[in-house]
Amino acid sequence: NKELAPILKKYKLVFLGEQSVGKTSMITRFMYDSFDTNYQATVGIDFLSKTIYFQNKVVRLQLWDTAGQERFRSLIPSYIRDSQVAIIVYDITNALSFEQTIKWIDDVKSERGSNVLIILVGNKVDLESLREVTIEEGQKLAKKLNIPFIETSAKCGYNIKQLFARIGDSLPVID
Ligand code: GDP
Ligand code: MG
Repeated sequence: NKELAPILKKYKLVFLGEQSVGKTSMITRFMYDSFDTNYQATVGIDFLSKTIYFQNKVVRLQLWDTAGQERFRSLIPSYIRDSQVAIIVYDITNALSFEQTIKWIDDVKSERGSNVLIILVGNKVDLESLREVTIEEGQKLAKKLNIPFIETSAKCGYNIKQLFARIGDSLPVID
């Protein structure tokens, strides 16, 4: 009985990437299965948690949503240091946001070394006609860095569940 299963493990996930790539929208889609077209910039750091099932175990996920504004960037390293999973997001219609993923990945590695699961996410695939970053470019970078990669649309809900399933599959076996 899932209802009675004890919470066995807590994971902290931090969402990183340039402003307006869709970090908050991905979290909102995952948490509430909804999407808001009005842009509301995240202020500082937001926190949400959700209980899910990974590998048939109850797992508590803490999702840390970060903001891109310069004045909050100094807060981010401490959240990275605390997280077991870093989700690096870019917008497939914004080449600069893709180039900047390197910087975010470097930040994660300098805080946590290899003791972290990093996943690269290209969001907004519903905007195919405005695409500036090919799927092959995303795949190539992920392959070079040896990290998982997925393309999503928070707007359509495309691959959002799969993103979290992929994270679950990539975490070390929970015992
Ligand atoms: P954040 O700054 O990274 O948290 O980005 P937001 O989640 O606030 O999204 C920034 C803008 O992009 C908002 O206007 C969203 O509605 C829009 N957006 C986010 N995800 C998608 C998506 O998958 N497709 C489209 N078309 N727009 C998106
Ligand atoms: Mg946000």
